[in-house]
Amino acid sequence: MSILGLKLGFVGLGIMGAPMAAHLIKAGHDVFLSTRSKIPAELLGDKAHACTSAKEVAQKADIIFMMLPDTPDVATVLFGDAGVAQGLSPGKTVVDMSSVSPMDTKEFAQKINALGCDYLDAPVSGGEVGAKAASLTIMVGGPEAAFDKVKPLFELMGKNITLVGGNGDGQTCKVANQIIVALNIAAVGEALLFASKAGADPAKVRQALMGGFAASRILEVHGERMIKRTFAPGFRIGLHQKDLNLALQGAKAMGVALPQTASAAQLMQVCAANGMQDLDHSALVRSLELMANHSVA
Ligand code: NAD
Repeated sequence: MSILGLKLGFVGLGIMGAPMAAHLIKAGHDVFLSTRSKIPAELLGDKAHACTSAKEVAQKADIIFMMLPDTPDVATVLFGDAGVAQGLSPGKTVVDMSSVSPMDTKEFAQKINALGCDYLDAPVSGGEVGAKAASLTIMVGGPEAAFDKVKPLFELMGKNITLVGGNGDGQTCKVANQIIVALNIAAVGEALLFASKAGADPAKVRQALMGGFAASRILEVHGERMIKRTFAPGFRIGLHQKDLNLALQGAKAMGVALPQTASAAQLMQVCAANGMQDLDHSALVRSLELMANHSVA
């Protein structure tokens, strides 16, 4: 059967899931939708069908995508009451695009495989902007045949799509991504704070550095947010804390030290303790500002 003939499901229609599902609908697929919050009205139409549970989505769709906040949410949607597992039949494919625990993902995959279905972990990077522009980076773990089947659908949502390895390896790759992003945000925050306290204009400093060796996407996007104080998410501090906890838990289990990751996690904890867990992760600079008693802007 051509990929266009396959029916799709999408569970979790938040900041990321809603625009990602919209791309699948726009491409002409029948998409069955379910989410805990209200299904965004702009998604519904001839090709988009509201369902009352994840079970109903799994009954009606051949390939079921999930884009949920955290590991317990994925466990609930998969194996809870009226969950995906209750609606599956052999031959279907479950694709988890949330960023969740690599270890738990391996267990989820085994339980779904036992039902005669394939499982792919396929977390993304690129944020809300990438989700809307269909330019996400997608890091996939799972069997090659399932990856090949779903790849044309990934291509509707993203650009840089890599089969990293077996189940769990996509999530491991995403944790590595989040370590790099968090440490870069902390570096940009410290640099702009230093420059500002020294009396230089942080906007000019950012502009100058964008042409040199310190240039980065984080200096560009998050640096601008720090200067303009645009801390509406984007990517919430609470979600990035979840990802750094996955890194630190994994490191502890493996006996590996990640000192810079631990430090960035502490800075995010300062933000959360001061009521900023729902601000964009660029607001990490606020923790540095509190310690310095000085604001970048
Ligand atoms: P979000 O909180 O905006 O959306 C999550 C959605 O899941 C909501 O619509 C919520 O109603 C739904 N949901 C939660 N529990 C549910 C349940 N039990 N049953 C059905 N629906 C449920 O989160 P988001 O920003 O879209 O992030 C989703 C995932 O993508 C997270 O794992 C996050 O780490 C990852 N991610 C986010 C970004 C970003 O920039 N926002 C970037 C890359 C990856």
